[in-house]
Amino acid sequence: MSILVTGGTGYIGSHTCVQLLSAGFDIVLLDNFSNSKPEVIDRIKEIAGRDFTFYQADLLNKKEIVSIFEKNKIDAVIHFAGLKAVGESVSIPINYYHNNITGTLNLCSVMEQFGVYNLVFSSSATVYGTQDQVPLHEDLPLSATNPYGRTKLMIENILNDLYVSNTNWSIALLRYFNPVGAHSSGRLGEDPNGIPNNLVPYITQVAIGKLPELKVYGNNYPTKDGTGVRDYIHVEDLSEGHIKALEKVTITSGINAYNLGTGIGYSVLDMINTFSKASGREIPYKITNRRPGDIGESFADPSKAEKELNWKAKKDLYEMCIDSWRWQVNNPNGYESKVTVV
Ligand code: NAD
Ligand code: UDP
Repeated sequence: MSILVTGGTGYIGSHTCVQLLSAGFDIVLLDNFSNSKPEVIDRIKEIAGRDFTFYQADLLNKKEIVSIFEKNKIDAVIHFAGLKAVGESVSIPINYYHNNITGTLNLCSVMEQFGVYNLVFSSSATVYGTQDQVPLHEDLPLSATNPYGRTKLMIENILNDLYVSNTNWSIALLRYFNPVGAHSSGRLGEDPNGIPNNLVPYITQVAIGKLPELKVYGNNYPTKDGTGVRDYIHVEDLSEGHIKALEKVTITSGINAYNLGTGIGYSVLDMINTFSKASGREIPYKITNRRPGDIGESFADPSKAEKELNWKAKKDLYEMCIDSWRWQVNNPNGYESKVTVV
């Protein structure tokens, strides 16, 4: 079976490609490198020990998508490609709406043109907006608090409309919680541009001495230690969720949302302590004000994915930290580093 992976050189896409190749799928990758590097292609090949076709293409260019479908027999699509930085989406909303929505519309219309109806889409727990209860389950009312989140919510709605229009569609909406960690080889990981916004990449850069200290955004939330609580999930567990979702969409039709999380919430202080143990480094931090727009607590009810996809996250917080640290040490400047394996 041949799978088109959009955004295949990105953080989650690259890990998923390795697992797809290892599971015996043929893959065709598409990425415009707006947030990833060409070096990733060889690393995926090196880890998986298999070859694949890569296209530097943009989902905003429909002709390029058509050409990929003309040249390759595609059975299903995993659609990772999108812009993902919440803060940036507030500053440049038009880019976010255009890239994420138009890109998805182009992709889906070409899929229809070629009679390909199997789709796994990267949604996000951000579609739960602000809730007054945890854990978050798939049937809660959805909302969004920023342009990035609205693109995910709009795309979920668009994909629901597609299924209503044509019941051949078979779609999994995967709502990721907080993906962290890296490939256990230390060869694939998250490579943010500039100063990281997310907690774990920030901590790894503090631990290695690139940044002086972590700012902990608030310690007065109604959580066990007052700091924000999230459901961190190892990127390799998350990737495995895509294989399971793919297996499901290729044998059924319909549209279903699934939470991909561990079901366990950890605070910022839990993360600092565990990372400190995993790396053997102290993580200097200071408590600052809350980050505007942050919610106090978010963690998944992952039982639907366990029941319907036979998927469950296995890796614990320590493993997430160990793997993030190995990636950071081996690749101090991300994919542009000279590699020094430890
Ligand atoms: P990423 O930025 O590492 O990967 C996305 C890839 O898509 C990049 O390689 C980028 O170059 C590519 N891309 C973007 N726009 C494109 C376009 N128009 N045409 C072709 N390629 C394009 O991000 P990621 O962390 O791997 O996330 C993958 C998906 O999962 C995204 O849709 C993101 O919104 C979603 N998601 C991520 C997180 C997270 O915390 N990482 C959480 C929830 C959901
Ligand atoms: N956080 C923090 N300092 C940082 C980055 C994040 O204290 O430099 C906190 C943030 O307030 C939240 C948690 O860490 O409680 C996870 O933040 P992240 O941005 O990684 O994920 P998101 O908030 O999007 O779920």
